[in-house]
Amino acid sequence: MSSEEILKEVAAEVSICEKCDLWKSRTKAVPGEGNPHAKVMFIGEGPGFHEDKQGRPFVGPAGQFLDELLASINLKRAEVFITNVVKCRPPGNRDPLPAEINACDDYLERQIAAINPQVIVTLGRYSMAKFFGSEKISVVHGRARKSDGRIFIAMYHPAAGLHQQSLKETIRSDFKKIPLVIAEAERLGAEGKMKPEPPKPKEDPPEQMALF
Ligand code: URA
Ligand code: SF4
Repeated sequence: MSSEEILKEVAAEVSICEKCDLWKSRTKAVPGEGNPHAKVMFIGEGPGFHEDKQGRPFVGPAGQFLDELLASINLKRAEVFITNVVKCRPPGNRDPLPAEINACDDYLERQIAAINPQVIVTLGRYSMAKFFGSEKISVVHGRARKSDGRIFIAMYHPAAGLHQQSLKETIRSDFKKIPLVIAEAERLGAEGKMKPEPPKPKEDPPEQMALF
């Protein structure tokens, strides 16, 4: 199956999924969207109020900030792929529960495998935890790590910047590193040093890159 077909199949399954209780309160599931061959994938936390209504990721206020951040590094939404660790809105925007993240993880894994991005940008604590283990976002934000033939870079969640001006500036400057990370991934790829594989469980901590 092509990447497009796998992503369509995942989206179809997500739209009727009942693997965790979040389906009961959703309006629309939000599988994620973007380029099936994106070099860069952004993984947020879960749909909020507006995403749940529209069935699309990052379309509310946090999404407007994400759009500004993407524009600041000359990336268009259509070039990247944007999704979340849980595909249905947690009621009242509460944090997703570990059981919900686990139940939904297979969809995210299949999306990553289909797109096979060189770079994965985690937005917020929950997607960071999947790839960076138990480290603190206040420590790892803006840092790039190489693991499983990809580069991961952790960012604060854009919504955090909406509430706190100083974090907004931090997020803006962390985002400015993404083009460098993409260039580094391309260089390593050209040298045959990047061979993306499905992500391993988080017991295997990613190696810190000297560059960042
Ligand atoms: N916050 C997220 O984590 N994801 C969205 O899609 C919207 C807001
Ligand atoms: Fe299914 Fe994920 Fe929605 Fe839970 S959050 S019902 S696992 S799609």
